[in-house]
Amino acid sequence: MRQKTALIHGGISVDPNTGALSVPISQASTFEQKKVGDFVYEYARTGNPTREALEALIRDVEGGHAGFAFASGMAAITTVMDLFETGDHLIVTDDVYGGTYRLFTKVLARRGIAVDFIDTSNERAVEEAIRPETKALFIETPTNPLLKITSIQRMSDLTQSNDLLLIVDNTFSTPYWQTPIAEGADLVVHSATKYLGGHSDVVAGLVVTANETLSEKIAFLQNSTGAVLAPNDSWLVQRGMKTLGIRMEAIEENAHAIVRFLQSHPSVGHVYYPGLTEHPKTDVHRKQSRGFGGMISFTVKDRKAAHRLVERVRYFTLAESLGAVESLISIPADMTHASIPRERRLELGIEDGLIRLSVGLEDALDLIEDLERALS
Ligand SMILES: *Cc1c(COP(=O)(O)O)cnc(C)c1O
Repeated sequence: MRQKTALIHGGISVDPNTGALSVPISQASTFEQKKVGDFVYEYARTGNPTREALEALIRDVEGGHAGFAFASGMAAITTVMDLFETGDHLIVTDDVYGGTYRLFTKVLARRGIAVDFIDTSNERAVEEAIRPETKALFIETPTNPLLKITSIQRMSDLTQSNDLLLIVDNTFSTPYWQTPIAEGADLVVHSATKYLGGHSDVVAGLVVTANETLSEKIAFLQNSTGAVLAPNDSWLVQRGMKTLGIRMEAIEENAHAIVRFLQSHPSVGHVYYPGLTEHPKTDVHRKQSRGFGGMISFTVKDRKAAHRLVERVRYFTLAESLGAVESLISIPADMTHASIPRERRLELGIEDGLIRLSVGLEDALDLIEDLERALS
């Protein structure tokens, strides 16, 4: 089954009891036992049929051993982090999602889990950061907002030879374009709030495991810490995922048109997009992904020009988040990455005049005209 088909027919796509083509929203919190211990479902934190349908779907499209649904992307990542304990050390991509950075520096640090933020697109730097206490490598590729690319396969070589876990946040590419487990990842995490849900109407997180040992550990943690996704929200994510293929194809087409426009505009400085031949790691990305996605970043002259632009656009909504049907625009330095000190931001390359676009499903010509008007 190819990805577009798997998104529709994968997992549990037909209700086994009624034949319904939309898996029912099962609100029950508890279930009757015929005899003590004789049940299909016991208690809804442990297992719920609507959530299970989504969990089976993400397992199938990521090509993993099991899927798990959580109340948010951060809840999914936090649960994966419960695999680690005091004294452990992790290596994390340096321009990782802001909420993940906060979790590592403000929450996990308190628990005595040490983290080094490393430019994981530089394999040598990762290798040098591995210590005896290192337990895992957590990467994003492409990254946010600079679209830096890390080779999943090269990271997998490193984690395998050093007995570490490789965790990939696949939110930006989605399994439609990129399947990290096939490249050697042990765990995949998602903010399903973004492309998978796709309609700006649900907050959700997913984890996919590569093998039975990890599945047992994550199932135990999911049930023990309890940040499960509610039945209604599970249904919304599954509904959203049915159209992921066609949405990602349309977003791709729009993104290419916008990148071409931005490159030709005199007020635009640098354009960041993994599909550009001048992107330093485009070859690595092309090897591990089937598409480039809808995230584009570019620079304008300064902070003032950036603010003028985002205030003038009509079809790009000024908002955090990404991956929706609506096109979104943001200024990372003043929004998603504001909590990172300016000096550190500049070190990472996040300039004050950097603009991030999440391309949606509108007509590309309207989006381009909108940017052109706002830039002039
Ligand atoms: C949004 C996001 C998260 C966090 O997900 P929530 O659903 O907002 O909790 C994690 N990683 C990436 C890459 C994200 O974009």
